[in-house]
Amino acid sequence: MDKSKRQVVIAGNWKMNKNAEETKALLAEMTTAIKDADCKVLLCVPAINISTAVEATKDSIIEIGAQNCHWAANGAYTGEISADMLKSFGIKYAIIGHSERRQYFGETDKTVNMRALACHENGITPIICVGENLEEREKDITKDVIKTQITEGLANFTKQQLHNTIIAYEPVWAIGTGKTATAQQAEEVCAYIRELLGELFCPMCAQKVTIQYGGSMNAANAKELLSMPNIDGGLIGGASLKATDFNTIVESAK
Ligand code: PEP
Repeated sequence: MDKSKRQVVIAGNWKMNKNAEETKALLAEMTTAIKDADCKVLLCVPAINISTAVEATKDSIIEIGAQNCHWAANGAYTGEISADMLKSFGIKYAIIGHSERRQYFGETDKTVNMRALACHENGITPIICVGENLEEREKDITKDVIKTQITEGLANFTKQQLHNTIIAYEPVWAIGTGKTATAQQAEEVCAYIRELLGELFCPMCAQKVTIQYGGSMNAANAKELLSMPNIDGGLIGGASLKATDFNTIVESAK
């Protein structure tokens, strides 16, 4: 299958940025700047701003996503948000297992798997983040790390659930650091992820999965990264907080 058959998804991750007023202001800029696209355009905003953001983008091509989602349907999990709650706001995408959640909030491959399965039960596409840290890259164990994260993170997925999953390859050393993986480094790992999905599910299933690259993707490097055969989009942090830069990235996907 050729790459053009896969859905290209450009997703912004606003992380813990923008209050309600700032969210409205930035989305007014974004909806003005981003009028047409050949890809899905998604902005994953802080949970408290989801309702504001959904309202602000209702007449635009921009969709709003979440940055996390709990595995339980409801219950005594103070501070958490369920997939059913996200669904009730019309949310169809949620980032799961971002490296910052793994690093600061004890996220493991097991909890990534539980959260992703809860997304599937509620018709939400999980964007599952995987990636090695600098030490792991230097030890030349990137593929081993990715293999564990994918195998455990996608455990018990059906082929249909795989089809409704996005994988974001985000080398931890490239996130928020200004150090981008070269297009060749990113392509090598994304191709490996596809090969692995082929072994775990089926080669044809793997061909249909959108695999994003994330890690200091910006207006200047997006085109080259997005031109690689196994990179079907981007997960973008810093550059998704600037309407012109984010629009340039969306344009680069054309
Ligand atoms: C991210 O938050 O997923 C990310 C890739 O951040 P940045 O683009 O700022 O490196």
